[in-house]
Amino acid sequence: MLLRVMLIVALGFAVLFLLWLGYALFLRPRKGGRVLWQPAPAPQTEPLPAPGFRRPGAPAKICPVCGAELGAGELVKSTTFPTLNGSDSIMHIRGCAYCLTGIRDRLCPVCHAVLKTDEVLMARMFNRADKNHVHVLGCSRCRG
Ligand SMILES: [Zn+2]
Ligand SMILES: [Zn+2]
Repeated sequence: MLLRVMLIVALGFAVLFLLWLGYALFLRPRKGGRVLWQPAPAPQTEPLPAPGFRRPGAPAKICPVCGAELGAGELVKSTTFPTLNGSDSIMHIRGCAYCLTGIRDRLCPVCHAVLKTDEVLMARMFNRADKNHVHVLGCSRCRG
């Protein structure tokens, strides 16, 4: 007799458990209580422009070391040293992302030597009111 009561109680618990399981697995997500899957969030930033990309109308920026046409946000790495007269500066140009990583050759426009990554172009930058003008003088080989 006791065994039969225990069996019925156990069966009752099993049925309740199965009902709860079914509720938890199938009913609750559909009511919005739990999100099983949601679409991936849209990327917050625009993908980076392809190499050489530039906005229509924007003037092309050319890397003085390798001649690559640089897009928006692609910078030429350089160091500027002010001179005493204040109207111009000496500039050491290292190059852009293409030639500093070895994708393109680094060429000196004066002596046409292929430069190593630690060699720089030397230029004089004239500080002008409207636009700075850069004149390449040579590289660390031909300028010494
Ligand atoms: Zn370059
Ligand atoms: Zn040179």
